[in-house]
Amino acid sequence: MTCLFKKLMRVECKVKFKFLGKFVGMAEYATHKIEIDLTGNDNIAKTFLHELIHLLHPKWEENRVLAEENKLWPRLTHKQVYRVYRKLYKDALRVK
Ligand SMILES: [Zn+2]
Repeated sequence: MTCLFKKLMRVECKVKFKFLGKFVGMAEYATHKIEIDLTGNDNIAKTFLHELIHLLHPKWEENRVLAEENKLWPRLTHKQVYRVYRKLYKDALRVK
């Protein structure tokens, strides 16, 4: 679990906050670009974690990604959640 978390925190990506409508998040494998919709989403850090799992494991199907996300998220410590937010905004600031 901690191992997966460490790997996720090392995934290089660029984050763009964008209205998507149908989805709360999207990950583009080729460019490692993540888009996150800030509307209608009560946990953007968890969505970010989900998209990072997609980038780390491009072959995993949606159900597997969801299962790993839902297993990992409740087990994160306060400090780890903080790190997710810090990475989210750091990766978003790199995008113009
Ligand atoms: Zn997904």
